Amino acid sequence: MNEEAFQPVEPVPPGPLPRRQSRQARVVWGDNVVLIGGGAPVRIQSMTNTDTVDAIGTAIQIKELARAGSEIVRITVNTPEAAAAVPAIREQLDRMGVDVPLVGDFHYNGHTLLHDYPECAQALSKYRINPGNVGKGAKRDTQFAQMIEMACRYDKPVRIGVNWGSLDQDLLARIMDENAQRAKPWAAQNVMVEALITSAIESARKAEEIGLAGNQIILSCKVSQVQELIAVYRELARRCEYALHLGLTEAGMGSKGIVASTAALSVLLQEGIGDTIRISLTPEPGAPREKEVYVGQEILQTMGLRNFTPMVIACPGCGRTTSTTFQELAASIQSYLREQMPVWKTAYPGVEEMDVAVMGCIVNGPGESKHANIGISLPGSGESPAAPVFVDGVKVKTLRGERIAEEFQAIVDEYVRTHYGPNAVRAEQGAVA
Ligand code: SF4
Repeated sequence: MNEEAFQPVEPVPPGPLPRRQSRQARVVWGDNVVLIGGGAPVRIQSMTNTDTVDAIGTAIQIKELARAGSEIVRITVNTPEAAAAVPAIREQLDRMGVDVPLVGDFHYNGHTLLHDYPECAQALSKYRINPGNVGKGAKRDTQFAQMIEMACRYDKPVRIGVNWGSLDQDLLARIMDENAQRAKPWAAQNVMVEALITSAIESARKAEEIGLAGNQIILSCKVSQVQELIAVYRELARRCEYALHLGLTEAGMGSKGIVASTAALSVLLQEGIGDTIRISLTPEPGAPREKEVYVGQEILQTMGLRNFTPMVIACPGCGRTTSTTFQELAASIQSYLREQMPVWKTAYPGVEEMDVAVMGCIVNGPGESKHANIGISLPGSGESPAAPVFVDGVKVKTLRGERIAEEFQAIVDEYVRTHYGPNAVRAEQGAVA
């Protein structure tokens, strides 16, 4: 390669492309207003997997999701009994002080449920309508219109959520007919992508004709393949200004679900596309539902789009690592930081930007620790049993013995207390060490 190619031409700034301009929806409950789109932060959503009829069990899961950081929670409203339970869920949440807005997920009978259960229609802060599942033939338009009219009556935003598994078959047939007329017909995959986009945009236009404000419409077009999802949303973003909800549907279990969701959403978010996200993970048996919230937060935080929880930087460990102590310390400090956030985020604003490094030996330990707000370098194989601690790049202490984890946690607590919130100013003035 020519020598000039190795020379810098201009700085390469890290960061995503400018956010796509979208309209802004307002999702409201009580004093809590969650703005979606129009420059608002990318929102984290989640969905319960409890039976909605079990109002207490559902309210408890919603509380856990909200506590984890879900800003909007969706619940299934599939039967009259579920619709009847929605106001009770809302009241229970209000009693517990959980003012997270609820979204009702409707299929097939949503028009009837919203009509027959006005308290449900009121208690929900947003409706999710799947245009492929609102009814067949002539009933489809009528029932879709009835749901939009309810949204207008109760002043609720709507997500028009198209899903490739339940695509409107009449519309798909129409798009296929149109494709057959082309001089060079598109491949089946392109036709499917076009049908998804058309379904979303045509449904949104109908909703606007019925009277729903354009800014109160959010669109999603979910598929289960990464490359198709990226193609669908790029085109959707180009063709409309509605706020967009991103999600890879049926992402799957464990690392596959996390990796596939991250791969798809990261590309789109990097291109400035996406106003709200949901990570559709299949929970492993016994795994907490909140994992989908944490994964969503970690995607946004590692991409530098939002901060939610102090980040723990940990090395992977290697043959120099003497024991699992540093892995356990990294895991325990990450859990501890997460558990504190519901209180810390109001008591110590800005703490979510803190970095904590937990390193396995002196090779990279002190260097990485110095770059973090707080860092600890545990002793590796053959090193003396001492763990230097660095605060803002300065070595402040060396921990030894069995209580390293507790003592390090106490140092983190002290740092948070003195560097964020009401004591932060005094810390800057030197009143607090
Ligand atoms: S910091 Fe030390 S223990 Fe960790 S990966 Fe590097 S050499 Fe291995």
